[in-house]
Amino acid sequence: MQTKFERPIQMVDLKGQYQKIKEDVDAGIREVMDNTAFIGGPAVTRFQQNLETYLGARHVITCANGTDALQIALMALNLEPGDEVIVPAFTYVATAEVIALLRLRPVMVDVDPHTFNVTAEIVEAAITPRTKAIVPVHLFGQSCDMEPIMEVAKRHKLWVVEDNAQAIGADYTFGDGSRQKTGVLGHIGCTSFYPSKNLGCYGDGGAISTNDDELAARMRMIANHGQNKRYYHAMVGVNSRLDGIQAAILDVKLRHLDSYAGARQEAADMYDAAFRNIPGLIVPARQHNSTHVFHQYTLIVENERREALQEHLQALGIPTMIYYPVPLYAQEAFKNTGDETTFLPVTDYLCRGVLSLPMHTELDQKQLEYITGGVASFFGA
Ligand SMILES: *Cc1c(COP(=O)(O)O)cnc(C)c1O
Repeated sequence: MQTKFERPIQMVDLKGQYQKIKEDVDAGIREVMDNTAFIGGPAVTRFQQNLETYLGARHVITCANGTDALQIALMALNLEPGDEVIVPAFTYVATAEVIALLRLRPVMVDVDPHTFNVTAEIVEAAITPRTKAIVPVHLFGQSCDMEPIMEVAKRHKLWVVEDNAQAIGADYTFGDGSRQKTGVLGHIGCTSFYPSKNLGCYGDGGAISTNDDELAARMRMIANHGQNKRYYHAMVGVNSRLDGIQAAILDVKLRHLDSYAGARQEAADMYDAAFRNIPGLIVPARQHNSTHVFHQYTLIVENERREALQEHLQALGIPTMIYYPVPLYAQEAFKNTGDETTFLPVTDYLCRGVLSLPMHTELDQKQLEYITGGVASFFGA
């Protein structure tokens, strides 16, 4: 069925967003072309510096994608095969994939049913003598409660690598009232510039952030074939780079990141107001000590009615997505890495009930009303 909009309702509207910044983006791309600085060069350096300033990080190291960022971060920690890394089972596959790829053992844990994030209590209960690191994921755009997680990590001497792929720009508030961006709360932060992410480029890209000089030096080497002097390789590394064109695009978009988050928050507020009182529908919880940058707006549909709601919306021309339909521990790929008897009730419950609505920077009032009306009509509200 056709909706009455010029542009169909989409999960993400990259075209509408590009049109508004086209002049600046095109100029940035042209500059890279004119300089033929395709790999490395001034655009990459400038973007790294601007992202350091934005995040309040001593070091930002750009790389080829968010998965590489996680892999490079873990490689820098000098872990041994079989060492355990605690990771939520309710996340995108990349978070756990790199752990298994490096022959470390992903220890999958449950999440809080309201925030969808791991908590200090959940993490601490999974610690064994082989545990070496924790990878908290700031899922859907909201920070994990990092202060107690860092306390647990300190007590057990564990590394903390934040998966910040979905939450770049979110602010975490500590008990003393001070605020910091996600990505600099742990020892290392990893993010992705995949096009649909909150800070997305026009291809693949990623970055690592840290305040630790030693880790930064190691990660720079790892990302560059293990060399810090050309053709002298101190360790086995990888080849992972952000190219100049993507950096130029990201540098433009970084200037809009806060206003983009504002547009997402406005859309989320409107969704919240429309859905808060519908029985059988749970709106995403807002944590008191983190802003929410709404990479996704994710509802929980109770009473096994999610698929019916999804079909109802589909018929109205409203797309939805299920992030994520299968707990990671139940994935074929992780069959031999974990504990065969793992069952995590909250993750299982979420995988059966979550539904993400269209969420991007270009949703207008009319589209939002159409979407909320479509959901309400399903519940007879
Ligand atoms: C997108 C994403 C990644 C991976 O980023 P890529 O750039 O696609 O490699 C990792 N973790 C989470 C939580 C993500 O959403």
